[in-house]
Amino acid sequence: MDLGLAGRVAVVTGGSSGIGLATARRLLDDGARVVICGRDRARLDAAVAALGAGDSVHAEACDVLDAGAVDKLAAAAVARFGGVDILVNNAGQARLSTFASTLDADWDAELRLKFFSVINPTRAFLPHLQASDNGAIVVVNSLLARQPEPHMVCTSAARAGVQNLVKSLSVELAPRVRVNSILIGTVNSGQWERRYKERAPAGVSYADWLAGLAREKHIPLERFGEPEETAAAIVFLASPAAGFITGAALEVAGGVSRFA
Ligand code: NDP
Repeated sequence: MDLGLAGRVAVVTGGSSGIGLATARRLLDDGARVVICGRDRARLDAAVAALGAGDSVHAEACDVLDAGAVDKLAAAAVARFGGVDILVNNAGQARLSTFASTLDADWDAELRLKFFSVINPTRAFLPHLQASDNGAIVVVNSLLARQPEPHMVCTSAARAGVQNLVKSLSVELAPRVRVNSILIGTVNSGQWERRYKERAPAGVSYADWLAGLAREKHIPLERFGEPEETAAAIVFLASPAAGFITGAALEVAGGVSRFA
């Protein structure tokens, strides 16, 4: 299926690892030019090398919580590629904490991360998206938005708020810019590799540890998702092929949700 992405320009925040990197790769494979950002320059350089796409990729070190830096990212993207059609708000990470263990400073940090990782890039790239004939934003969100977990209280609450924001944006930015989200369950990526290193019992391989977690979580498809599978959903929603879809939330979670 031709998604109509050839020649388009896409920005993927957090494009140096996991889901963001897989999304950048998929966009490039479909003929788009891609801008990626992350905070760590060395990781960005490694991602650019791994993508091997020469002049079709531009990488900038940028913390999405720094509005000034995000404005510079937008200016750099336009200077390099002449405009921007697609914004994938993907940068971020989860916070494991119960209500009892979440301090006010944690609430501040988590709410700020989840909201401003969407607000800052959306604001900075909006004029460019509005100038495109396929202005599209995809927000990488989580099933936690609709199905909170007690060990991820503030992440869950923040994700619910972001989902609400996505819906508002999809109305306010129509008809020029479509805004959709994906709701992820568990995807094999950098954050799970980090948790494996911190928490897995000695002698258990990463693959076996993930398989055990998939059983524990009763995921009907009996495994974690792969970044490439998540990227396929993101890229579809971002593409002209999804031209009549806005305000939608697509579950990419192996069937694990329990809401209808
Ligand atoms: P990774 O840790 O593999 O990738 C996260 C990416 O985001 C990295 O490129 C990281 O680069 C970047 N990043 C993090 N914070 C910032 C920041 N403030 N500014 C700019 N870049 C930032 O994780 P995933 O691929 O799993 O995560 C992608 C998104 O999916 C995240 O928002 C995550 O919360 C969400 N998600 C993932 C799930 C999963 O199971 N994997 C489940 C639910 C949601 P750097 O650190 O160098 O800045």
